[in-house]
Amino acid sequence: MTTKKKISKKDIGKLLGIWSQWFSVLVPSKEENVAKMVGWDGKDVSFLVWYRNTVVPPKANFLPPVEKMFSFQQNRHGYHVEVPQDEQKRLIFGIRPCDARGITMIDKVFVETYEDCYYLSKRKNTVLIGLSCTNPYDSCFCTSLGVKPTESADVDLMFTDIGDEFLIEEVTDKGKELLASAGMVKEATKADDAKAKTVQATVSGMVIRKVDTKDIARKLQACFSDRDYWEKVAAKCISCGVCTFLCPTCFCFDICDELVKKQGARYRGWDSCSFRLYTKMPMENPREEKWRRVRQKVCHKYQFYPMNFDVAACTGCGRCIRLCPVNWDVTQILSSLPASVTSRGDK
Ligand code: SF4
Ligand code: SF4
Repeated sequence: MTTKKKISKKDIGKLLGIWSQWFSVLVPSKEENVAKMVGWDGKDVSFLVWYRNTVVPPKANFLPPVEKMFSFQQNRHGYHVEVPQDEQKRLIFGIRPCDARGITMIDKVFVETYEDCYYLSKRKNTVLIGLSCTNPYDSCFCTSLGVKPTESADVDLMFTDIGDEFLIEEVTDKGKELLASAGMVKEATKADDAKAKTVQATVSGMVIRKVDTKDIARKLQACFSDRDYWEKVAAKCISCGVCTFLCPTCFCFDICDELVKKQGARYRGWDSCSFRLYTKMPMENPREEKWRRVRQKVCHKYQFYPMNFDVAACTGCGRCIRLCPVNWDVTQILSSLPASVTSRGDK
């Protein structure tokens, strides 16, 4: 059972200051008007007022948009290869429960299935401090995917706004240790706990968009070959890749080399199954037509990923709905899947 503490909102800056002694602290910030988790400047806690969720999901702090894998240099003896080491200790303050669940989803691939050293070095050195969501967007549908806006399962500490204070759930031992030396943190009372429970019930009720996720994998399987259906679903998509780049559970990347004379570097960068050149192979691209790529995106999240991990690769964060330039809406697709094949088949 988790234990509960509390802190006055006016002491958050002091608490972040203490943590800054041991960690590089990241908080929600609007860099060039795009909200993302960036290094705290040591004083600004205004995000406590404006923050709903970041545009760029915190997966970017573990799997950056572009990352150097190694550099190489030719010398008299052959090639010298250098792999960058990243052992920096980080603390992300304010991660939303849906995005923390997204990190848990990526762990299944980059930690449990295959140990990706670049991801792992950042993951094992990062503490996640959650901040319950109290102002969901109308595009959010997290509760349909089993994530409550106050869910604490995927973080080390969870903060919930109870008025002038935050109630703090100590979820992991690592989280508990972080509070041990913070004098401004007090024991929570039963009344504080009751306030947090009221907040939890109220906010869950504010997530009004719902999707019936039962049977989705079977329905997707049933209409997989229904080309007419997928062409209609894909019609307005412009293959921009925004929905996958900004999805907290998407993890595909491409690799490229940069070579200048006898030295260079290998980089990896986010890729998207929405792009026509994605998975371009020596002979052909298996998903040349747009409808095949849209089908892949939907089926991977709600059919193929659950086949491997028993859970959909979606946290219901709603980014792919509110940030799509043509208002493509995955919840409309999931709510209107045909029960069986109705037209010409095409695999
Ligand atoms: S964000 Fe919208 S238009 Fe862009 S690839 Fe995704 S569905 Fe298509
Ligand atoms: S598929 Fe859309 S709603 Fe689901 S996690 Fe990704 S961006 Fe969020």
